[in-house]
Amino acid sequence: MQDRTYAADVDAGETATVAGWVHEIRDLGGIAFLILRDTSGKLQIKLEKDEMDEELVETGLGVHRESVISVSGDVKEEPRAPTGFELVPESIDVISAADPELPLDPSGKVDAELPTRLDNRTLDLRKPEVKAIFEIRAEVLRAVREQFRDLDCTEINTPKIVATGTEGGTELFPITYFGREAFMNQSPQLFKQLMAGSGLEKVFEIGPIFRAEEHNTPRHLNEATSIDFESAFADHHDAMDAAEEIVRAAYGAVAENCEEQLDLLGFDVEDFGVPEGEFPRLTYEEAIERVNATGKLDEQLVFGDDLSTEAERALGEDVGTFYFITSWPSHVKPFYIMDQDDDDSLSTGFDMMHPRMELVSGGQREHRYEELVAGFEQQGLDPEQFDYYTKMFKYGMPPHAGWGMGAERLVMTMLDLDNIRETVLFPRDRQRLSP
Ligand code: ATP
Ligand code: MG
Repeated sequence: MQDRTYAADVDAGETATVAGWVHEIRDLGGIAFLILRDTSGKLQIKLEKDEMDEELVETGLGVHRESVISVSGDVKEEPRAPTGFELVPESIDVISAADPELPLDPSGKVDAELPTRLDNRTLDLRKPEVKAIFEIRAEVLRAVREQFRDLDCTEINTPKIVATGTEGGTELFPITYFGREAFMNQSPQLFKQLMAGSGLEKVFEIGPIFRAEEHNTPRHLNEATSIDFESAFADHHDAMDAAEEIVRAAYGAVAENCEEQLDLLGFDVEDFGVPEGEFPRLTYEEAIERVNATGKLDEQLVFGDDLSTEAERALGEDVGTFYFITSWPSHVKPFYIMDQDDDDSLSTGFDMMHPRMELVSGGQREHRYEELVAGFEQQGLDPEQFDYYTKMFKYGMPPHAGWGMGAERLVMTMLDLDNIRETVLFPRDRQRLSP
């Protein structure tokens, strides 16, 4: 594929070879246009029936939409063409002919339901507005990695096949590991903590988490991507600061580098809201008072309740920006979260919320061996099973804090998408295991 020019890069007066998909065929009688599409954009190819080689015209008009072709010829300026240029072909090669019946229409003229789109992601991602979501997702992850570097973190990769779960037994996917029971990891929690106690001190991981969620919802996946942070010699305030910086970096990079993609998705880059300043930090108690005051819930929340989806929504509408909920009751948060110094009924656990939903959970970790083991027992977990983890707390574990952020939720809320599946190439949910 030498000397291939992208459709968006052709210039008048040159001879070029372009290659891509047949987006559209417009036959106007004596003249016909093939619209070729590649990753950069589109280009009009002009076919003049009486003036051009018959075979060439036949080839050009004989292809079906979405076939892959390569075209060589002269590029001319043409103000009436969609991009201001057209190519007058000398040769047309059909590299890969497409069936006339397509399972979905990449030109977007015919809408397809999400399941059809997910079954045919290759065709779906030929639509510029769908492709744009994944270009933005990639930019988000790039910016997040860069920001972690600025925070002095080292990227780690931890096992996804594990012997024990950490975030509640019912959400575990069991697998068979050489005849033994094992699980798909729900979170890199314990491993990243072990690394905060290592010589690395500050770490991050971007990787899959697996959760056998009970229900299909628009914001849960059974395989999600978690952005995880863990830092030694940090408390929950430091961890919240880092979460804010990561979110700001992601939004900032998208605003700066994805103007075209934002435009395709209906955002004006000028008022694409890059969050500024410190996000409000409400205590759990303030949060439930505030939710109750909205009058939007059928039943008032009482201290100790988890926030339902409805409660999250009512509070989000009321606050209207990113915000944190801090000082959760200890029993709502996992065993590895440290209690507050002055009140052990309250934890250092926090959630970062987008007005629409939870994005992050984090906190300061319990680094004292005795307290940690007691926490396991209180949560009905057998500390013996976690010996590989707890024993490292006997050999010098610094105070540390961190969080996990759902990458798909970050992108979903950033782009105001209704369904989290829009942000995943091949989502896994209760019904969907392939492709
Ligand atoms: P929720 O209450 O919204 O189900 P959670 O509190 O169970 O989430 P955590 O264990 O706190 O989730 O995980 C940290 C973050 O990982 C969440 O805030 C969310 O952004 C993301 N996350 C967790 N589970 C899922 C999932 N099933 N699908 C997509 N993202 C998820
Ligand atoms: Mg959570």
